[in-house]
Amino acid sequence: MSISNHLINEASADGEGKIACPVCGANSFTFLFKKQNETFVRCESCTLVMINPRPIFKDVLNTYNHQYSGSYAIKGEKKLRRCRRWVNRVKNRYIDHGRWLDVGCSVGFVVKAAIEAGYEGYGTDVEDWGIKYGRDTLQLPNLRQGILEEQKFPDHFFQIISLYDVIEHVPDINSLVKELKRILAVNGVIDIITPDIGHWRTPRDLSSWNEIKPSEHLYYFDKNTLSLLLEKHGLKIVSRRFHTKPSLRVYVKHA
Ligand SMILES: [Zn+2]
Repeated sequence: MSISNHLINEASADGEGKIACPVCGANSFTFLFKKQNETFVRCESCTLVMINPRPIFKDVLNTYNHQYSGSYAIKGEKKLRRCRRWVNRVKNRYIDHGRWLDVGCSVGFVVKAAIEAGYEGYGTDVEDWGIKYGRDTLQLPNLRQGILEEQKFPDHFFQIISLYDVIEHVPDINSLVKELKRILAVNGVIDIITPDIGHWRTPRDLSSWNEIKPSEHLYYFDKNTLSLLLEKHGLKIVSRRFHTKPSLRVYVKHA
């Protein structure tokens, strides 16, 4: 309930639902295409691609339904193996202990993998079915339903924060990144994976790209636009992992 109200209030504050570019603040956009009645545009200043005007936020919330997490849970073992690889990469490269927060955790496979690897695992997700499954079936105690900013974690609480295929879904990305900065430990690291619109394998005809998902994926970053967003809030990309699929994978620290 509080989530819906939060998002709807936040959206209605924008009048018609058209917003300035959340990365650079500019108001000039180039129309790209329409898909399922959503308008995709590119910021003429920083090149961020986004849906603008923004979808009605109950439609965004409706993309996080039971089925979404349900299908995720069914592919459990394969997903869990992939999460273990992601966790171990951070463990080998950066910090091998402390609190790990997975934002947009769904049923909590990353949290489970982090606990197995020796971290204290936490997770948040807007979708309550996944949280319930994670608590009841995967026995994960520190899962919380709601957006990150509602959780009121202490300052500098987490050594590691992961956002795997999450940042492109979040309506207020400035509020999110500001909160990430606040709760990240001084020497902490943030691990981000998001579709990469600048990747050499992203189709030139963007409307045919399988990551173009109306109402679900609101923003489409490349390394430059993601850097600009992070730098505004005192964070910076310290390393990038190349991937053969159009996926942007970066480690982030305090600037
Ligand atoms: Zn911009």
